[in-house]
Amino acid sequence: MVKLHIGFDDTDSPKGGCTTYIAALLVEKLSLMGVSFMDYPNLIRLNPNVPWKTRGNGALCLRINCHEDTVDRIRETVVDAIEANAELSYSGTDPGTVFLFDNVPQEIKDFAKKAEQDIVKMEEALKLVKRFDAEAVGFKKGRGIIGGLAAIGEELNGDHTFELITYRTPENRGEPRRVQASSVKIMAANSSLTFSNIDPETGRILITPRGPDPILYGVRGENPEVVKQAHEIIRSDEPVERWVIFRTNQGTDAHLRKVSAVTEIQPYNPVVVQGVVSKEPRVIQGGHVIFSIQDTSGEVDCAAYEPTGNLSKISRKLNSGDVVKASGGVRPASSNYQLTINLEKIMILEVVPRISFVNPFCPECGKRMKSMGKNQGFRCEKCGFRSSQLKKVQVEEEQELKRGLYITTPRSQRHLTKPHCRYGREKKGAPKEVIKNWHSP
Ligand code: ATP
Repeated sequence: MVKLHIGFDDTDSPKGGCTTYIAALLVEKLSLMGVSFMDYPNLIRLNPNVPWKTRGNGALCLRINCHEDTVDRIRETVVDAIEANAELSYSGTDPGTVFLFDNVPQEIKDFAKKAEQDIVKMEEALKLVKRFDAEAVGFKKGRGIIGGLAAIGEELNGDHTFELITYRTPENRGEPRRVQASSVKIMAANSSLTFSNIDPETGRILITPRGPDPILYGVRGENPEVVKQAHEIIRSDEPVERWVIFRTNQGTDAHLRKVSAVTEIQPYNPVVVQGVVSKEPRVIQGGHVIFSIQDTSGEVDCAAYEPTGNLSKISRKLNSGDVVKASGGVRPASSNYQLTINLEKIMILEVVPRISFVNPFCPECGKRMKSMGKNQGFRCEKCGFRSSQLKKVQVEEEQELKRGLYITTPRSQRHLTKPHCRYGREKKGAPKEVIKNWHSP
């Protein structure tokens, strides 16, 4: 028996397709060939700020044990499935697949981490393929080899989650999805270990994507049993062609890398950086909020876009001097904007006292006095006392902004963003075995 990791990526286009669907087809085909799966198919989300991604920058890896004499047939099956199902006519679709035997070397694990948090080059991927005797097949520009290798390298030995994805039959693809919203609400209310089902601010159902891809819905959760139970509660008025449970880095913040200084921030990298608010929030057209933070090394803008909901509301309340930890993807500087962190999260660490100046109390009767005009002193309306010596007095306002972690509302969360409910639920280590019936057919 041999251990084989099969990674692949970049098969879809904005008009259709989905790399997870090819994985689902392969699960069926390879199962029929008698291979045994060492793990659920891994759905690995890579750097969400890569400019050439189609949607969620997802790459796939199947990890199997198989007889040596079936390897050629398996390879052929994978390449054929990609060729038959990838959106090859679309100019930006450049599929790639990688086959790696035995254990995953540390260098490929490091490559995967880099692909989650940074930009990697095709040459780096090809060098590793060669060095570790892996095999890579690319279609057109073959850029999917990058994602394929990265998916192999992310073995999900740290925190991970699960997603059960259901697929539509061909005649329904492109049509509105007919999933009963009421059943999703019942599911969400009864499945506390699932997440990102419904947006609390708008009530929008989040398990159904909106594009032309073949996914009907995906339920995310902490373990395979829970997503399966949730799936059994959901009712849809259209048939499900197939479903598969994936193990994934979604909802784990795997993309966020802590940088120790503002000047270390690079465009297209998702980062976490601490700084002091140096320019107070301003609201620009569309209700987006922009402010700046700085440390001893430099200054960077932070943007909380209107759809981030609560996050943009909280950001408006920041004052100069507040200390925050900002998390998000970095947009490069342009003619209109400087380098900007598009906020996914903000941790408010320190809030400076909010000071305002108010008219003094009357020293005779204790009533709040009235101003007689700029630099003209104050007059008491009650007892008539006047003074040109009295000054406005400082008062500390009641603090509206509370310290703590604020996360963009679920409807605008990235696949990788760890939602509030997952804090404290982090896992370590891969499951020892897969559950029975983790896919159909
Ligand atoms: P699909 O469902 O087809 O995978 P997607 O939204 O995941 O759609 P892709 O079409 O796969 O996006 O496009 C992402 C492309 O970028 C892939 O070719 C992948 O190999 C490559 N890629 C992913 N992450 C990185 C990275 N960090 N650096 C460089 N290239 C990357």
